[in-house]
Amino acid sequence: MKLFLAEDDAVLADALLTSLSRLGFETEHAASGLTAEPRLLGADFDAVILDIGLPGQSGLELLRKVRAGKPTLPILILTALDGLEDRVAGLDAGADDYLTKPFEFVELEARLRALLRRSKAHGEARGEARFGSLRLDRAGQRAWAQDVPLDLSARELAVLDVLLSNADRVVTKEQIAAELGGDELGANAIEVYVHRLRKKIEPAGVGVRAVRGLGYLLEARQD
Ligand code: CA
Repeated sequence: MKLFLAEDDAVLADALLTSLSRLGFETEHAASGLTAEPRLLGADFDAVILDIGLPGQSGLELLRKVRAGKPTLPILILTALDGLEDRVAGLDAGADDYLTKPFEFVELEARLRALLRRSKAHGEARGEARFGSLRLDRAGQRAWAQDVPLDLSARELAVLDVLLSNADRVVTKEQIAAELGGDELGANAIEVYVHRLRKKIEPAGVGVRAVRGLGYLLEARQD
């Protein structure tokens, strides 16, 4: 899970980044609205924590732009305790939730997890599957890496689908063969499809690990 934090209070940002990474989140941070914008519009994050009182450009302005470009990205805004107008404006501008400062980290964590759960459920309802920067639209039979369309054959798409559907476990060649609609497909053919798919998704930071004797596993690659 990759999170983006836009917060200009260095002490608070440090504390949040430390606690979030302790929970296993990958994080990226910007201290101004201007530096946050290109990252938020250019890269793929699973959720955003956005301080409304940012220098450079206000969090609200940034929120409007990000929401226009990324309609489904979960965004939690942080506002001052007395910032009722900011909260209302933020929710109107498309924030999914808010927290007022000061807050306890456990509350941020709980809200973040709730947002991520809702986002996953909505994605699934739309027939979407995600892993890292990969996105698959099952109904439309299309896939993207970092919002760039992937050029995949129907069989490569089917392999990607079965791997995404089992993103946290090993998928056997038999499972992949069944998904591709044929017992007649041999293990060698499966290896070829996996190999082609791997070459196309690796540049997006997602690998397909071969687990000897068992099958394949999607994995996020560190670079
Ligand atoms: Ca601030």
